[in-house]
Amino acid sequence: MKKRAHIIPRSAGHDHADWQRQLAEGFRDARSLLAWLGLPARWADSAAEAAFPLRVPLAYARRMRRRDPADPLLRQVLPCAREREPAPGFVADPLEERGANPLPGLLHKYAGRALLVTTGACAVHCRYCFRRHFPYAEQRLDGDRLEALVRWLQDHPEIREVILSGGDPLTLANARLARLLARLEALPSLARLRIHTRLPVVLPDRVDDGLLDLARHSRLPWVLVIHANHPREIDAHVIDACRRLDAAGVRLLNQSVLLAGVNDDAETLAALSERLFDARVLPYYLHLLDPVAGAAHFRVSTRTALAIQARLRARLPGYLVPRLVRETPGAPAKVPLSPVDKDVPSPDE
Ligand SMILES: *Cc1c(COP(=O)(O)O)cnc(C)c1O
Ligand code: SF4
Repeated sequence: MKKRAHIIPRSAGHDHADWQRQLAEGFRDARSLLAWLGLPARWADSAAEAAFPLRVPLAYARRMRRRDPADPLLRQVLPCAREREPAPGFVADPLEERGANPLPGLLHKYAGRALLVTTGACAVHCRYCFRRHFPYAEQRLDGDRLEALVRWLQDHPEIREVILSGGDPLTLANARLARLLARLEALPSLARLRIHTRLPVVLPDRVDDGLLDLARHSRLPWVLVIHANHPREIDAHVIDACRRLDAAGVRLLNQSVLLAGVNDDAETLAALSERLFDARVLPYYLHLLDPVAGAAHFRVSTRTALAIQARLRARLPGYLVPRLVRETPGAPAKVPLSPVDKDVPSPDE
């Protein structure tokens, strides 16, 4: 870990402290967020909030429209009573991930890639999150678990790519990331590092000089997959953060979830792709909602999803059209939706 220390410049100290302060000072209850937006407290549901607390950085809340309870950014984070309505087929572990968990903190579902749960912490709590019921406390990656992980990767040289996920791996401080990275870089079998993170979107100051230096000096090429669902999530600060990552040689992709009342129309998704391109990010996946308990009010039918996808194809260059996929337990990869899926029963049809 000493070996890497020189690449974290002293000057990064200020930025570093700043994003961590912003992370600590974000909204942590619905009442204060609603008050700040000029909305009455009755728009939130306290039982839903008790089950999965609200968490929103100020930098993200600033992009919400004031006094609009239907704002698509607010809708993604606000605990609401509909989360408590029972919905058949919407369960705690829809992806059956506990069965693909060879070690604590490791998911191995797809050939050549292993996904690491690096932390349970996120900067923002998304109501539709498929991991909202995941037992994070058991999944922290440090100490003995890190040693066990390195041994597992040594025993599985067919794994070419490690995906840092969570939670959100960029909630970890640069020094911790540097220590983890040093262990991964020492494994000759690895060819890439992937990071799944929402932080460049919800807290763009996280992209500080220390992080950019880690990317620039890494033996492993970085692929950073951000997560934005609506064009208004990509403001000038996000564009600036992504451009700095791009300039540091990081490949940038975006994944979205298709969400009713947020982005379930072709106009919104086309505008999102254009904004992403401005930020040097290409759309990667558009996920059909996982049937996670508490998220049924976000569902979009397969038929509607396919119609939206067809409209997107008709108006955008192919590279700006995300792949519309669903996750199916046991499948060897994320499954692209195709018109025959009309015949697949889904909970909403
Ligand atoms: C989504 C996912 C991946 C990555 O899949 P790609 O199609 O390569 O993006 C890897 N592991 C797990 C467990 C996943 O859920
Ligand atoms: S893991 Fe991603 S989708 Fe889930 S709450 Fe965290 S940031 Fe949101």
